[in-house]
Amino acid sequence: MKRVYCLVLLMASLLAAAAQKPSVGVPRVFLFGHDYVRVEDWARANGGQARWSVPKQEIKVTLPSGHFTFTVDSRRAQMKGTHVWLSLPVAFKNGSAHLGHIDLATAINPLLAPPRNTTGRPVRNIVIDPGHGGRDPGNMEGKRQEKQYVLLLAKEVGELLGKAGFKVSYTRTSDSTLELPERPAIARRRGADLLLSLHFNSADGPGGSAAKGAETFCMTPVRASSTNARGEGSGAGAYPGNRFDAKNMVLAYQIQRAITAETGAEDRGVKRARFWVLRDADMPAVLIEAGFMTNPADARRIYDGPIRRKLAQAIVDGVVTYKKIVERK
Ligand SMILES: [Zn+2]
Repeated sequence: MKRVYCLVLLMASLLAAAAQKPSVGVPRVFLFGHDYVRVEDWARANGGQARWSVPKQEIKVTLPSGHFTFTVDSRRAQMKGTHVWLSLPVAFKNGSAHLGHIDLATAINPLLAPPRNTTGRPVRNIVIDPGHGGRDPGNMEGKRQEKQYVLLLAKEVGELLGKAGFKVSYTRTSDSTLELPERPAIARRRGADLLLSLHFNSADGPGGSAAKGAETFCMTPVRASSTNARGEGSGAGAYPGNRFDAKNMVLAYQIQRAITAETGAEDRGVKRARFWVLRDADMPAVLIEAGFMTNPADARRIYDGPIRRKLAQAIVDGVVTYKKIVERK
């Protein structure tokens, strides 16, 4: 009787694992030194279909849950209306488009079969990290300093999160200097359920003012390469932040989606980086680059209080959606 019970448990856990991994059963192909799967095979395994929208260049996948667009030789993908950067470029071989297996596992599957909170503990305690501060002004545009405006945004996000029922605290509430390792450490000491790090971008040089839009970073998965690798290599091992790879992705995606949908900011996509604040985070964490101080349209969202408040609301809406997803029964 006991053995039968164990077998039933084993079968149930195997089935649950398959349901969590929508790429299970899709044959792998070894291409250019990496494991890939054919886009058509993956689409079919998930009850959908793939068709070239531009032959040999752009392929659209329609699944019951939404549309995905992949571009050959590119890491930029569109997933259900929001851009996400892949770890490996989409490969073209023998007439078919191929997706990196690592991207199915770490970028696509978390969105198709999002993780649930298994501890039964609700997402409630949020630490907000306004980037830079004190001796470190961050980006500068004329007399305007990034550190001032991320602090304003942080307080607005915090106030709105508080109204939505979250418990909120900050890594800094004034113009104080805070080293990078201190930021995830503060979140850990406070037992935070989420860490949100806030930043604004800037672009230099001729034509710099054309760079615009919002991007949301989450931790690069183990062995994957970051969006802007900057020589860190793709062999990087596991950090504390990797324990939350799937939740990091869902959080980053929902925030990126809300910001671009609600504020009109250009969608630069969900990106990956092994930033200190992400890799040492002991809880799901994101770093939001909420716009370019050097772009006129973005600058209004950064410097103009009432418009910036919409940005704050979008970040909160992304967090609320994440909470609903991971706490679903
Ligand atoms: Zn910054």
